[in-house]
Amino acid sequence: IAAANWKMNLTIQQGEQLLNDIIAKPHHLSAHQQAVFAVPFPYLAMAQAKMAGKDNVFIAAQNCYTKKSGAYTGETSVEMLQSLGIQVVVLGHSERREYFNESNQMLADKVNIVLEYNCTPIFCCGEALAIREAGTQNEYVAIQLEESLFHLSAEQIQKVVIAYEPIWAIGTGKTASSEQAQEMHAHLRAVLAGKYGASVADNISILYGGSVKASNAKEIFSQPDVDGGLVGGASLIADEFVAIINSLK
Ligand code: 13P
Repeated sequence: IAAANWKMNLTIQQGEQLLNDIIAKPHHLSAHQQAVFAVPFPYLAMAQAKMAGKDNVFIAAQNCYTKKSGAYTGETSVEMLQSLGIQVVVLGHSERREYFNESNQMLADKVNIVLEYNCTPIFCCGEALAIREAGTQNEYVAIQLEESLFHLSAEQIQKVVIAYEPIWAIGTGKTASSEQAQEMHAHLRAVLAGKYGASVADNISILYGGSVKASNAKEIFSQPDVDGGLVGGASLIADEFVAIINSLK
């Protein structure tokens, strides 16, 4: 899975141009590969229409609310997303955890409602630099999974995509080395296997995020437990993102 996270960038005209440019460039998605575009809410309908009928391409929301509907001014429900044809929702990005106080418990509620509507959550986890420096990143990330995901059944958890995004590598140009990514992805898979068994854990896609670009995607994606990437800055440049799609294994 090559997933673009546009974050709060681009006008709708720039976003449409970017999608046009990506469509026009040679890229190939095999049956087991997907490209995902997590675009700002106001651009979802435009992006969904543009990618309609394209195999293995999905438009995603960057967030949703925990409730089905009601007096929650400014929020967006999964039902609203589904009514636009959106089937994928990014949840718990570190920027949402930091600036919008999203807790592991709130994210458990968001995961539940996304699954209730048969949509796919891309659940983000990852540690800050201080935690990495203290050497406690494995425990920290395991707790994020346990508190937000481990109430799910084995059947449900296989519908969740996990994105490991070390905060110290986001937008910094500082990528985790492919060994660091592999080490954490193998740890996450072992934690999942401990709870759900190895065959369930093997079925779960774990993406790496943090300064993925055309020049490092192939090496990162070649790691055995890395199933693709969640890409910020480089997803805003057509050549870069197409090269990242073409680096999927
Ligand atoms: P960058 O690729 O800009 O480091 O961002 C990563 C990210 O946060 C994707 O969700």
